[in-house]
Amino acid sequence: METILVLTHVDENGAALSKTSLEAVAAGVDLAARLSAPLTIGIVGADAAAAAASLASTGARLLAVAGETFAQPRYATDAAACEALCRAAQATIVLAPGSARFARIAAGVAHRLGGFIDTHITAIAGTDSVEATRWFYRQRVEAVLSRDARPWFLLLDSGTNTAFAGESGAAQVEQVAVELPAPRTTVSGICAPMLDAQTIRPDARMLFVTGAGWTKKQPDGQIHAVEAGDLILGFLRQTGASLGSSKSLVDQRGEDQPVLPFLTHMNQIGQTGATPRHAKGLSTCCHGEEPHVVGWRFIGDRRAVSLDPNCGWTRGKADVVYIADAFAVMAKLNALLEANKA
Ligand SMILES: Cc1cc2nc3c(=O)[nH]c(=O)nc-3n(C[C@H](O)[C@H](O)[C@H](O)COP(=O)(O)OP(=O)(O)OC[C@H]3O[C@@H](n4cnc5c(N)ncnc54)[C@H](O)[C@@H]3O)c2cc1C
Repeated sequence: METILVLTHVDENGAALSKTSLEAVAAGVDLAARLSAPLTIGIVGADAAAAAASLASTGARLLAVAGETFAQPRYATDAAACEALCRAAQATIVLAPGSARFARIAAGVAHRLGGFIDTHITAIAGTDSVEATRWFYRQRVEAVLSRDARPWFLLLDSGTNTAFAGESGAAQVEQVAVELPAPRTTVSGICAPMLDAQTIRPDARMLFVTGAGWTKKQPDGQIHAVEAGDLILGFLRQTGASLGSSKSLVDQRGEDQPVLPFLTHMNQIGQTGATPRHAKGLSTCCHGEEPHVVGWRFIGDRRAVSLDPNCGWTRGKADVVYIADAFAVMAKLNALLEANKA
């Protein structure tokens, strides 16, 4: 019989579990029920008490590696903590969130335990065995994996499970001791851009895509790149949407053409870009060509604003297409959002 361990870590505030950890917990609870297998949850953080209380209703065995040393992500301490949790749980299947904190240690921990790891898992099925799903070739081929190797580590992509949200209650946590190597890394602080300077927001409900049309000559024969930038940033500020772009627009930076300075290739959506997951998507000034739209695979409700009634979006790629000038539409939309706020 399988023994399932879910590895979790606390969020930046240090007490509650991170959202991606709670998603992994939900996947673990579901898998354990289907396989009728025992479930253990391991917690890494400075103080595991609050996190453990939030997991009381899972009925799982709770293990923790806690202490100030584990407050900050650090390869040596996180890897040692997870290794100790795996050994204490004697798990055959280990689920972990594909967070920045665990993505960098999970393969190392699997190696220390003589196990095997698969990453970017989007679903786990099976009642007699474990069947893990992931995408290959830029999200074009979906594969279902099963393996005999144990322990088998599965790193779960964020946003693919609903976060566990059970009643808090009294929880008994077993503390697991860790033998740490002599520390070589001290975390002195975090340098991060202001929250509104970060335009890529994987947890946002909406993806807002900009296309090359924003920096093309408009009906008055002029380019309005500055106005375009103001409209786009204004919309992002009001809605908290994540900013995506077509390849044509981000490529312009290297071609001496007018650019939107806050866009980089990291914003690119599509075949050679990202394939994010958001409930809704709004595309503006983008033609909706196949290499771009393939990156919209996981966007729920798709809408587009384009001047071209013959564009790719109108040919069945979007749910709703507004044939309109995006400058006018976005100015009106921003004004309505502003009025709504007041
Ligand atoms: C191998 C390969 C891989 C590729 N990978 C990607 C990828 O990952 N991602 C990607 O995006 N592309 C990719 N492409 C490029 C892709 O095929 C398109 O060239 C690109 O997506 C076009 O970008 P665009 O729609 O912004 O620009 P354009 O095709 O120039 O379209 C601009 C649109 O803006 C509209 N417009 C202009 N002004 C306004 C206005 N005021 N209001 C409303 N609409 C307006 C125009 O009508 C036009 O439809 C790839 C291509 C190849 C060959």
